[in-house]
Amino acid sequence: MGKITIAIDGYSSTGKSTIAKELAKVLNYIYVDTGAMYRAITLFALENKCIENANIDHNKLIDLLPEAKLKFQFNRELGYSEMFLNGKNVEREIRGMPISKEVSKISVIPEVREKLVSMQRKMGKKKGIVMDGRDIGTVVFPDAEFKIFMTASPDIRASRRYKELISRGEKVTYEEVLKNVRERDYIDSNRLSSPLLKANDAIEFDNSDMGLKEQFERIHYYALQVIEKQKKNA
Ligand code: C5P
Repeated sequence: MGKITIAIDGYSSTGKSTIAKELAKVLNYIYVDTGAMYRAITLFALENKCIENANIDHNKLIDLLPEAKLKFQFNRELGYSEMFLNGKNVEREIRGMPISKEVSKISVIPEVREKLVSMQRKMGKKKGIVMDGRDIGTVVFPDAEFKIFMTASPDIRASRRYKELISRGEKVTYEEVLKNVRERDYIDSNRLSSPLLKANDAIEFDNSDMGLKEQFERIHYYALQVIEKQKKNA
């Protein structure tokens, strides 16, 4: 009773998933990282040679799409769900630079979006969900009771992402990561199908100068207020 839908959108590497994961944990809600779904389809496209030399064979990918079976599986030890593509755990693979370089180009394809948005709506049917992405508050759940739009300067986002990749042993340069962050921002914001936009009723949250603890406390506080209001109105 009183469960709501929480939509967290924003630019890449703004820390959406860290906040969303923690929020879902304390509220006992389900967490869905929609970026992982677009990343898994990108891996599927690479594996099936629908991307060669940075060129995408849209028709081939659209034909093969029904064969891409995505599933989130909860990992008790880690405390969050991992992405499986056709039965294989691809969580680590989808986070690396080769996928980051192509994912925004795959995410512009309307057929890809239709498939993933339909899965996302099913997952959130019963509410009690925290979903993060680019179009959650605008397209997937325009009626979500609580919407956040996260931003931070490109330099800060690139530096956070660079540290994360280096700590995982990837060989990347800061410049490469910054270029990727800027490119994804551009493609995500300018595509025709569900561009990255702040929903009119979303709270904009610039976390350039804010630590994780403060961000979480603020967002958690807002969420509790919305949940209380919802309970009173029920
Ligand atoms: O959130 P993350 O950075 O993992 O997302 C990877 C990419 O997936 C984004 O840059 C964007 O191109 C795409 N995406 C999207 N819509 C979503 C989630 C992610 O287009 N709801």
